Amino acid sequence: MFVIGNWKMNGNRELAQALTEALREHADELNQVQVGVCPPAVLLASLNEAAAETELMIGGQDVNEHQSGAHTGEHSTELLSNFGAEFTLIGHSERRQFYGDSMARVAAKVAATLANSQLTVVLCVGESEAERQAEQTFAVITEQLETALQGQTGDCLERLIIAYEPVWAIGTGLTASPEQAQQVHEFIRSWLVQKFGAEAANVALLYGGSVKPENAEALFAQQDIDGGLIGGASLQVDAFIAIAKAA
Ligand code: 13P
Repeated sequence: MFVIGNWKMNGNRELAQALTEALREHADELNQVQVGVCPPAVLLASLNEAAAETELMIGGQDVNEHQSGAHTGEHSTELLSNFGAEFTLIGHSERRQFYGDSMARVAAKVAATLANSQLTVVLCVGESEAERQAEQTFAVITEQLETALQGQTGDCLERLIIAYEPVWAIGTGLTASPEQAQQVHEFIRSWLVQKFGAEAANVALLYGGSVKPENAEALFAQQDIDGGLIGGASLQVDAFIAIAKAA
């Protein structure tokens, strides 16, 4: 089980301290779950330092597809790795919606990360409310997976996690019901197995979208939900720890 916090454009050094202290305090109860956090890139170093003697995994919120060069404001796989990141989100819906991450760009980022680094890719997929209402959920997820993973082989599986984040559930307080989420996760798992073979059944599938301490347990109890990607609730240490314990 994985529980990963995505701080988005929030957090500070104090949160890094408070969270890592809490992780040390609750280490015994959390030894069955892999806890990760994606802070804003400027906080990677602080969080990495604060995370000494914890099992916390640190990740990027995004990565650039180029290895270096004139890309003002962007971060390469090497920069992320250099500051302690072990994984990176790619294709978060906020990047797709507001920052120009087209399907092609998401695919380029996935390919570059797998080829040029040791980082694990947490590929985010999910449908909008209109797409769900039009019964396009599976078609949208299929297209997102197909484009992002085009040209990849089974070699990518050890460094691949998929996060299903329905856009209508992100930051809205609306959570997919455990059954709705399970249905899509089952679909993603069978898509992966069809593309890459039986071994792909072991890829971790995380649910994201208004996960809170109150709904985490029911979501994580679903057969194909292997953890969560947590936005708002990851900014409150107690809530985040409670969600990690639920896993
Ligand atoms: P919320 O948990 O705030 O809905 O955000 C989910 C998310 O986008 C995590 O990446």
